[in-house]
Amino acid sequence: MTALYPVSDIYGFAELLTEPELAKLRSLRELLETRLQPILADHWERAVSPVHLREPLRDLRLVDDPALLGENGRARELYTGFRNFEFSRTDVGTGMLYHGQVAMFRELVRQGGSAQQVEDWDDAIVSFEMTGAFALTEPDHGSDVARGLETTARREGDDWILDGRKRWIGNVAHSEFVAIFARDVADGQVKVFLARTDAPGLTLTTIERKVALRIVTNSDIALEDVVVPESHRLQRITSFADVAALFRTLRPDVAWIAAGAQAGAYEAALRYTLEREQFGRPIASFQLVQDKLVRMLGNVTASLGMAVRLSQRRQEGTQRDEDSALAKVWIADRLRETVAWAREVVGGNGILIDNDVARFFTDAEAIYTYEGTREINTLVVGRAVTGISAFVR
Ligand SMILES: Cc1cc2nc3c(=O)[nH]c(=O)nc-3n(C[C@H](O)[C@H](O)[C@H](O)COP(=O)(O)OP(=O)(O)OC[C@H]3O[C@@H](n4cnc5c(N)ncnc54)[C@H](O)[C@@H]3O)c2cc1C
Repeated sequence: MTALYPVSDIYGFAELLTEPELAKLRSLRELLETRLQPILADHWERAVSPVHLREPLRDLRLVDDPALLGENGRARELYTGFRNFEFSRTDVGTGMLYHGQVAMFRELVRQGGSAQQVEDWDDAIVSFEMTGAFALTEPDHGSDVARGLETTARREGDDWILDGRKRWIGNVAHSEFVAIFARDVADGQVKVFLARTDAPGLTLTTIERKVALRIVTNSDIALEDVVVPESHRLQRITSFADVAALFRTLRPDVAWIAAGAQAGAYEAALRYTLEREQFGRPIASFQLVQDKLVRMLGNVTASLGMAVRLSQRRQEGTQRDEDSALAKVWIADRLRETVAWAREVVGGNGILIDNDVARFFTDAEAIYTYEGTREINTLVVGRAVTGISAFVR
């Protein structure tokens, strides 16, 4: 059988996958090529999220097919990484529509919920019957949200009353629930509440005029005396340290997303340079064009190597905060280079949405910033290698 990524995985990292994992990724590929690719540029331009694909994606059983699950009831980390890679190689935003639900929201509930809450909700989350979004960031607190988080939760009998504002929340407009990170006024600790998105007092406003990830609907949220029952407070998140532990789990996914977007940009650029002729020859025949293609391929290959090793460490249970922070920083940095070179070799056509490189070029800017900016992840790694924290206190 041909390699999964004959063009962009020249070291054959995907050969580390098992046959059932490869088959699953091929089925995802087919869906993305037949159902997403034809509508992609149009949806991106109109800033419409392809929510209708959630159902066929669910039916693929990418996370819950028994053939994929190990003794711990989970798919292997390497497969999960390549799942993110496969999505992003076609479209980062559609990947987030899926990833936001089955990775971010699901992991939050699995790690933060009581055994009973997990039992009650996990199957419904995987099957998209219970949809949810992840609302941590606030208008005035992005990088410093750990210490600055202002949204409050006040207990009244069996209920909590939430007040505050959230910003940038992905997919919440298409979700039944939103996980609100709020500070308990009684003990000052951060806790997580699953609020219904149609709850009285909760208002969503779509963030318009984005130039990146247009396919993802991001929203501002206003919370005014929103009532959430204690049964919908995630019982095992009682401080920001628990939130940080959650990010340890989620951050490697972003490294894979950044690697996948590079593969998509590189493959689109290579295709174009082989077809486009100037001076009577394909532009791929020019030394200066080949220089950029090779730089791109080097970036993709090195990024994949780093992401694969990170996933292996995560599987072994030896992954540390600085490992995933370093991967996020470094791969997202390579992503910026790769998409710029991809755009460059496509010339003027490289700024048209119909040529995929333009989409990767702009979407890269969002990846570069979310789940910890370059500076914040750098500070995490810097603290680890020097033993000195350079964070503002
Ligand atoms: C497309 C998109 C989707 C998102 N989805 C979600 C979501 O679903 N849920 C959610 O909760 N959040 C989400 N976010 C928010 C995202 O996590 C934040 O944008 C990110 O944490 C950065 O915060 P900020 O934008 O407020 O930037 P700021 O924190 O204001 O940072 C601005 C600049 O200052 C730098 N800076 C800040 N502090 C320091 C420092 N101490 N030292 C050096 N430099 C510093 C930053 O690195 C950055 O370059 C999303 C963001 C985007 C763009």
